[in-house]
Amino acid sequence: MADRVPDGLADRVRQRAGNRCEYYRAQQAFQFVSFHADHIVSQFHQGPTLEENLALACPACNNRKGTNLAGIDPDTGELTPLFHPRKQSWNEHFRVIEGRVVGITAVGRTTVWVCDMNAPKRLDARRRLIAAGLF
Ligand SMILES: [Zn+2]
Repeated sequence: MADRVPDGLADRVRQRAGNRCEYYRAQQAFQFVSFHADHIVSQFHQGPTLEENLALACPACNNRKGTNLAGIDPDTGELTPLFHPRKQSWNEHFRVIEGRVVGITAVGRTTVWVCDMNAPKRLDARRRLIAAGLF
């Protein structure tokens, strides 16, 4: 059974993240659905409900990531850990190129694929925000 993240802790996670999804950098301000404090190492895998194991995630990333800790790198077919927002730097693993989030490392590629960051609706929304200077 999943523990609920207490409100005060969830607020700290949200503030630390600057109200952006820590996986794909979407801003809460331009979404109609609430972002949540995601367990980076899921509770299924005994991840604790502590700040160092929580990241703000949009519902799309959160749903796709689920309890996954790893995925298959689409380029190499190798089992690869997912991006860890507390231990790794987003800029070392991802770039935004013409609106697409592109993984520039095995971790980045695998996380983009698992979270389906370039699904058509998400790509379209990101391109519109970029065009408006809001991403
Ligand atoms: Zn996201």
